[in-house]
Amino acid sequence: MEHGEPQLVRKSNRRSSSAFICTKCRQGRMQPLIQEGEPEYTDLFECDQCNHQATIPSLVIISSQLISAIMGGILSVYLFIQHLSKVLTSFQFNTTDKISVNITLMVIAALFLLGFGYTLYRGFIGISRRKKYKRGQ
Ligand SMILES: [Zn+2]
Repeated sequence: MEHGEPQLVRKSNRRSSSAFICTKCRQGRMQPLIQEGEPEYTDLFECDQCNHQATIPSLVIISSQLISAIMGGILSVYLFIQHLSKVLTSFQFNTTDKISVNITLMVIAALFLLGFGYTLYRGFIGISRRKKYKRGQ
């Protein structure tokens, strides 16, 4: 009690002050746009100065995208290699046994891999967008 430290009374009623700076006017803050009847969470933000709107994905969304892309990607690569080796073995021993099945499964694995690659790409886009708005450039 002797120290008499100033009490920090920085308690705002605001829904957490935004850390994102507007990239358009570079002065305003990007505030989450929560409409009535919608859940608390939103990734849509609006500048409190110039009304510039932007979608800034949350870290939860980005990390779940990255995790699912990496896990799914590893599984797809594994399946792709499995079926590829079976196809190659068929060619090697000149047996057409089940070759069309393995080629089909190989193509499906490749398509999944593309999908997970796209998810990974989306995750990185989200990260760079968050960085951009954090710096306000
Ligand atoms: Zn602005």
